[in-house]
Amino acid sequence: MSEYRENGASGQKRSYRLTRRSFVAGVGAMGALGVLGSFGLTGCAPSGDKAADGADEGAGESYDAVIVGTGGAGLSAAIAAYDKGLTNIVILEKMAVNGGNTNFSSSGMNASETKFQKEQGIEDSNDLFAQETLDGGHNTGDPELVQFMCDNSAGAIDWLDGLGVKLDNITLTGGMSVKRCHRPTDGSAVGLTLIPGLLAAVEERGIPTKMSCEAKELVKDGDAVTGVKVDLDGKETVIGAKAVILATGGLGANAEMVTKYRPDLEGYVTTNQPGATGDGYTMAEQAGAELVQMEQIQIHPTVEQETSTLIAEGVRGGGAILVNSEGNRFFDEMSTRDKVSAAELEQPGGFAWCVFDQQVYDANTAIAKYEKSGLVQKGGNVAELAEAIEVDPAALQATIDAYNAITTDGAADEFGRTEGCIAFADGNMYAIKVAPGIHHEMGGVKINEKNEALDASGNPIPGLYAAGEVTGGIHGDNRIGGNAVCDIIVFGRNVGEVVADALA
Ligand SMILES: Cc1cc2nc3c(=O)[nH]c(=O)nc-3n(C[C@H](O)[C@H](O)[C@H](O)COP(=O)(O)OP(=O)(O)OC[C@H]3O[C@@H](n4cnc5c(N)ncnc54)[C@H](O)[C@@H]3O)c2cc1C
Repeated sequence: MSEYRENGASGQKRSYRLTRRSFVAGVGAMGALGVLGSFGLTGCAPSGDKAADGADEGAGESYDAVIVGTGGAGLSAAIAAYDKGLTNIVILEKMAVNGGNTNFSSSGMNASETKFQKEQGIEDSNDLFAQETLDGGHNTGDPELVQFMCDNSAGAIDWLDGLGVKLDNITLTGGMSVKRCHRPTDGSAVGLTLIPGLLAAVEERGIPTKMSCEAKELVKDGDAVTGVKVDLDGKETVIGAKAVILATGGLGANAEMVTKYRPDLEGYVTTNQPGATGDGYTMAEQAGAELVQMEQIQIHPTVEQETSTLIAEGVRGGGAILVNSEGNRFFDEMSTRDKVSAAELEQPGGFAWCVFDQQVYDANTAIAKYEKSGLVQKGGNVAELAEAIEVDPAALQATIDAYNAITTDGAADEFGRTEGCIAFADGNMYAIKVAPGIHHEMGGVKINEKNEALDASGNPIPGLYAAGEVTGGIHGDNRIGGNAVCDIIVFGRNVGEVVADALA
């Protein structure tokens, strides 16, 4: 569960409880409340230009750049383009709520050599970040795009800070050797600060957004993309553009597309919002773009199965362990997601309990929300928790004692965990039942460092750009937690600037 906030037309902050299940239903009510008004259900500035080739009669709208998707990538692209002088732009969003999966991003945003790391005495380097990203993806990621992302990550943290999005609380996720996962000051989920901050910047600049406006197809004139065919409130029309930026996110909510690329993932729950249906892949491919590594769909090891709620990786980074139904640990919880998921599936029943104490609870504000949703089991001590989750109390106590010895006695962990080892304190103990769920598409549209969409020969398709989860090849076959938000902000900002320069 997540909380969604948006500035209303009055500029007043409003708060909403939002779950993936209520994403669609809830927005109806939000629309009725007029909450979406500030970003305009059709609130775009009409242009005098004629629509691009193939335009419907009567459409008539044309922009320098059309950005498809209001997640972190799309909003960053719009802000960066505008600030570089490209003001005749519009953002399209098929849902009635902005923000996409970025709303739900929880653990944080990875970045290296940041001012916040330096202030906190954390030694890191862009090269180490790049190396650990490539290692995490078993050297199947694109080294140049990875290096570009890491080299520009500190700049992205500063850029967000300048927009009022301060990410100065730094934690660990699996696959990193130093703290580089940046979160809001209070340790809350990053998306809940990021999306309202970016939306406020979009609103301040007066960038129009068309809600409930679904891009259906890219319009081409010869080789060049010249617009987007859209379904706007049930009416099909064409919006012309000198450049189209696809920022449509992933495919986790499209079971058919998931199983097309990964038949073995049939029946898995998804952490994704309902609009994550992979439209960008289809549109780009039809326009001649190459899709790479589409079979690389990440499953995440800590998903509560009844509600599809992602239990943030920062919970493990803060000290939580995973135990099976027998009360035993079975793997290094801070290993990469692919390995932890695989180990979990080998346990009896294919699930685990994510177990933590009051310190972890207090350091992760999301946990109180999980508890409110009824996802958290609690005991006043280890034995009480064991009873609540029906595992052998002696086995759970032995597991906790052995884990505590890693930090207190410097014992080597039998599973090789070296990161985020924080001894359990006496007192309240908590557990959340988790199993793997579909989480992230690591493949997608092949791009270069200018975010140009490339065809199978590696040539840019004129007028077509892509940023965010819709792109592929950066993370390789395993994404490190916190790297997607880095990716969408770095490349979202980059594509806005590139397009502004190209059209200057
Ligand atoms: C529960 C959860 C937790 C996560 N936590 C983290 C984390 O802590 N750190 C991290 O790095 N990553 C995290 N991720 C991954 C990360 O949040 C996403 O990869 C990232 O936010 C994607 O951003 P985006 O802008 O590319 O796409 P999105 O944010 O998904 O935005 C895409 C937008 O495009 C819209 N759209 C799609 N198709 C169309 C169309 N045809 N026409 C118009 N609009 C369209 C969608 O409705 C959506 O609003 C998490 C993901 C989930 C689901």
